[in-house]
Amino acid sequence: MTTPRDAAATYCGAKSNSMSQILAICLQTDQEALAVYTRLGGLFAEQPELAAFWTKMATEEEQHVKFWQAIIELDKISCIPEVFDDPGEVIAELRQTLGKIRALDPLLQDRIGIDKAMIMAFRLEFYLLHPAFEMLFNYARDLEFLSNVITPETDYDRHIDKFVKALRTFGDVSPEMELVGETMTRLWSENKRLAKLTNTDYLTGLLNRRGFFTAVQPFFNLAARNATRVAVAMADIDRFKEINDTHGHDQGDRTLVRVAGSLKELFRKSDVVARFGGEEFIVFMYDADPDTLREVGDKMTRAIRAMDADAAPCTISVGLSSAIPGQGEGADLASLIKRADEALYRAKSLGRDRAALR
Ligand code: GH3
Ligand code: MG
Ligand code: MG
Repeated sequence: MTTPRDAAATYCGAKSNSMSQILAICLQTDQEALAVYTRLGGLFAEQPELAAFWTKMATEEEQHVKFWQAIIELDKISCIPEVFDDPGEVIAELRQTLGKIRALDPLLQDRIGIDKAMIMAFRLEFYLLHPAFEMLFNYARDLEFLSNVITPETDYDRHIDKFVKALRTFGDVSPEMELVGETMTRLWSENKRLAKLTNTDYLTGLLNRRGFFTAVQPFFNLAARNATRVAVAMADIDRFKEINDTHGHDQGDRTLVRVAGSLKELFRKSDVVARFGGEEFIVFMYDADPDTLREVGDKMTRAIRAMDADAAPCTISVGLSSAIPGQGEGADLASLIKRADEALYRAKSLGRDRAALR
């Protein structure tokens, strides 16, 4: 018999350890950044305002360090899935970045002037703008587990902002430096936008299919290890083609946005709600009680029926299924989803606007 622990080991074993390597390099990188800012704080101790600024930057790096430590812990117990398409390349680039940051340290001498210090910090921040960081920040945003540790994305926004402002306050800013500052801000927001596009559905703002699997897999592994029951609900808008045909595609889009919003509102923050494709939505529930699944399905159909739908009222059909990962039927995520899909098909054939279990 497969024990839950075996099952978790199977999931973890199947994955390459490149994510663990990437996370380790991210941690080392921010530890180096922390060291550089701490050093700068010491070098400018006689200029209180400037010293306070470096110390503030160091404190923020400390937060990033904590963030990486937390995510590494999560990876140890539940195996974070591959977030990158080409992890080998990411590892190589991050290693290079780490090397460049390490090379900054010997340049920090006692008599370094403020302009030199600023340029050095500039270089540091530039290296830290590697898109891999943003991909991981974006990923962590969707994990309830980490939300009390740090919200890295907004924190980093402020971090970059503060840096560019400080450049004006403390440095003798040349037009070139100003341009570098603007470039950095732009680079950051572009990175952020791209990272978001990869995992998010542009129309509804929910996770897309890829984002769903990336977010859910570690929880599924965790459930296998703890023998915890999880559930999936698949929802499909009824006769959506008619809504498009009757009221137009734009109204169809608005309906999708509204259904997405209602579903998101209905579930706990720790549940994962995503747009699975077209007019299909999926919800993953951790620690699900099988006795209340029907209730969950009914709650979903009821909420959509009651939705303020202006011109186009709509209903959904829902299929639900639960399993303890690694035990019996639905032992892996794909078969759990398949069973929820079969239940959905049944709800449709029974007349729509209802929930079915399988
Ligand atoms: P059923 O009750 O059996 O689910 O019927 P249905 O009409 O909802 O199902 P069907 O699969 O025949 O049609 C789904 C429609 O959803 C067809 C497709 O054009 C539309 N659709 C898919 N994605 C979008 C989108 O992003 N926006 C809009 N407006 N429509 C979309
Ligand atoms: Mg459909
Ligand atoms: Mg449909």
